[in-house]
Amino acid sequence: MSDPSWLTEGAPHVWRPYCQHQTAPAPLPVVGSRGSRILLADGRELVDGIASWWTAAHGYNHPHIASRVTAQLGVLPHVAFGGLANEPAYTLARRLAGLLPPSLSRVFFVESGSVAVEVALKMVVQSCHNRGESHRRRLVCFEGAYHGDTLATMALSDPVTGMHRAFAGMGIETIHLPVPAAGDGGAFERDFRAVAGSVAGAIIEPLVQCAGGMRFHEPAALQRLRRACDEGGVRLIFDEIATGFYRTGSRFALDAAGVIPDIVTLGKALTGGTLPLAAVVASEDIFTSFLSENPDFALQHGPTYMGNALACAAAHGSLDLFEQDDFPARVARLAAALAARLAPLRHRPGVVDVRILGGIGVVEMAPGTAPAAAAFAARGAFLRPLRLPHADILYLMPPLTIDTADLDQLVEAIEGAIALP
Ligand code: PMP
Repeated sequence: MSDPSWLTEGAPHVWRPYCQHQTAPAPLPVVGSRGSRILLADGRELVDGIASWWTAAHGYNHPHIASRVTAQLGVLPHVAFGGLANEPAYTLARRLAGLLPPSLSRVFFVESGSVAVEVALKMVVQSCHNRGESHRRRLVCFEGAYHGDTLATMALSDPVTGMHRAFAGMGIETIHLPVPAAGDGGAFERDFRAVAGSVAGAIIEPLVQCAGGMRFHEPAALQRLRRACDEGGVRLIFDEIATGFYRTGSRFALDAAGVIPDIVTLGKALTGGTLPLAAVVASEDIFTSFLSENPDFALQHGPTYMGNALACAAAHGSLDLFEQDDFPARVARLAAALAARLAPLRHRPGVVDVRILGGIGVVEMAPGTAPAAAAFAARGAFLRPLRLPHADILYLMPPLTIDTADLDQLVEAIEGAIALP
């Protein structure tokens, strides 16, 4: 069946994400979605193994999210956030604060994860400035990190293995340290102490560094980081854009880690993959450092679509669904299924490691050995391995609600696409 005309006629005008246009195959035309599946123009259905970049936690087209958005559409789709307030945004701010430790109480809404991280960086740097510590302008980040695609967030990415290495050294001043590892003999604390005096904040994805290679670390690493920040007067940011909302098993990774950061960024599953929304949740302590009679102390940020009422309505729908089910138990079942199904792949050629945490299943392969996306699509699965200099990372981050038949289809596609020994 030939491609739809909207694809062939539009393709010469679209610049695609993360795409080498000279060699990339054409994108798959999608005409619908349902549950864990995306429906293609030629009638095929693919199980989406990565839930639209980890957003569609409840599966696609959930009627509850749709009804919240539809109801809001008829009342107030959007109104500017400067000088005006809308109910979905204000109730959502209160609701998000209620899900987090009490110190994390102030919500700043944006439309994308990258911008959320940018705002978090601005908050820590300006907070220091407002408190008379303007010499603190550097940021500690970590090897293997990825925090977005804008200039400042690229500077946080791993400068050697990260996808933004072409931009290494540009933008903000960063110090990349190894994630604290058991048995490092206190090297992390020594390295951190040596720089802390000029550092405004430290940022990490708690428990799993996702786009940087699906690397896991222990809660102890985060506890050490928290202590080092406290000793050095450094603010701690957790980027939970990917890990938040049960992806690692607990509601937030910070819950499992037993660590409270000064700022947390949220996004992706916040709206269940329906509308773009992200949030920066700051501690009251950070917030009060912006209070002054002096207007220069204010945070100068305010995206056009900040607090978009439709997106906030979608987030309410997604949060309703998270409340209506026992997600820690659901994700524990998914983790067990992923572990049982993926473990045998350990013995396949090219496979270096298989690891699971919550709703994340990782098959790490030698560089250049993971099959192309087309090999999975031919077997009924949509998967996009991360290709890094040191490894190909084939991973599953499906809807948390995926059923057994669809999970089987994903795993069988992997089994079929990876060569037998
Ligand atoms: N932080 C993390 C941890 C992410 O995984 C991502 C997106 N993959 C971002 C930030 C950037 O989010 P966005 O793509 O919405 O800008």
